[in-house]
Amino acid sequence: MEPWQKLLSKSAVKIEDLPFIPDSEEYREKLRKVSKVFPVRINAYFLEQIKGPDDPLWRQVAPTPEELDDFFNTEEALGSDPLNEEGDMPVPELVHRYPDRVLLMVNNQCPIVCRFCTRKRKIGFPGIVTRETLRQGIEYIREHKEVRDVVLSGGDPLLVPDKELDRILSELRAIPHLEIIRIGTRVPGALPQRITEELCSILRKYHPLYFNMHFNHPAELTPEVEKACNMLADTGIPLGSQTVLLKGVNDDAETMRELFRKLLKLRVKPYYIYQADMTLGTNHFRTSVQKGLEILDRLQGHTSGMGVPYFVIDTPGGGGKVRLLPNSVVKFTDEEVVVRNFEGKIYRYPQPATEKPAKKNMPSDPEFYTPGKICELA
Ligand SMILES: *Cc1c(COP(=O)(O)O)cnc(C)c1O
Repeated sequence: MEPWQKLLSKSAVKIEDLPFIPDSEEYREKLRKVSKVFPVRINAYFLEQIKGPDDPLWRQVAPTPEELDDFFNTEEALGSDPLNEEGDMPVPELVHRYPDRVLLMVNNQCPIVCRFCTRKRKIGFPGIVTRETLRQGIEYIREHKEVRDVVLSGGDPLLVPDKELDRILSELRAIPHLEIIRIGTRVPGALPQRITEELCSILRKYHPLYFNMHFNHPAELTPEVEKACNMLADTGIPLGSQTVLLKGVNDDAETMRELFRKLLKLRVKPYYIYQADMTLGTNHFRTSVQKGLEILDRLQGHTSGMGVPYFVIDTPGGGGKVRLLPNSVVKFTDEEVVVRNFEGKIYRYPQPATEKPAKKNMPSDPEFYTPGKICELA
């Protein structure tokens, strides 16, 4: 067994294994119920980083009774598959939502089980992603020439053993129209020991390969994680990160700014901040959308532009990701555009003289960009 496999095998998975739990049998019994609906996993490395019950790392992985409250919540449209991924699966465990790229789940195990996971319905249960679903997924990509980009996800693709991962990547790389392969993973931040020389020598064979890693709080960036990121960057993999906006974990601008600054130092480019999805069992992590916009407004211009990710809502029902920006456009006409800068000062940009008026409700129509205006494309 490799060291990372040992750390994984020593995970806390039962309520009895967990520290920082109130000493009440009633409370423990509630958590036992929670863990039957949504499995628990905190690997030994991650558990060791946690300092106490208010630790932002703990809040991401500790089961709480609130997870079952949503089952009685009739006001909000929470669901087990809020992005309707199952509705966009031409074959099992492959989501084809956008024209030229797909998401392929290569397993459904993770180094830690995040309590706010958008795929809470799948993670940690046996028999969902199988050899057969994987075979069908790769076959689908081979048969669909329009797919030029695949996001390997799950679960966590890096929990697949080296030999198997090598096989999956080589089968994908043999597909001529598949231009890039992306790996979506929480492993570098949650089980950094998995990033071995052996793994890097496998990954190196399959460029252009991109990583999008999952980081939510600067406390996740330990010396072990720094080493893992450096090894991956030295392997020539462009590194990106994705962050979920979470109440009580990272819903303030200072925490986010520190996270993104530290990621840039590790050669990781912050890519997305996600508004929390409407996933059943995760309602207590949701913030208002204003919160995300306010955080973005306090980053943009105040820190390296490289360190300001896109803020997106993955739209409930399956419309895909939509980017949101704090409003910087004060006025937008054929003659001029008036904008607000990061200090709140107002600037005017005169337009070149136009030859013909813009067509109504098209992206060239100034009204399309005017704050507060809802425009529909014909
Ligand atoms: C997020 C996502 C992708 C990748 O989207 P990008 O914006 O290109 O990073 C692809 N497919 C699905 C289903 C996704 O959710």
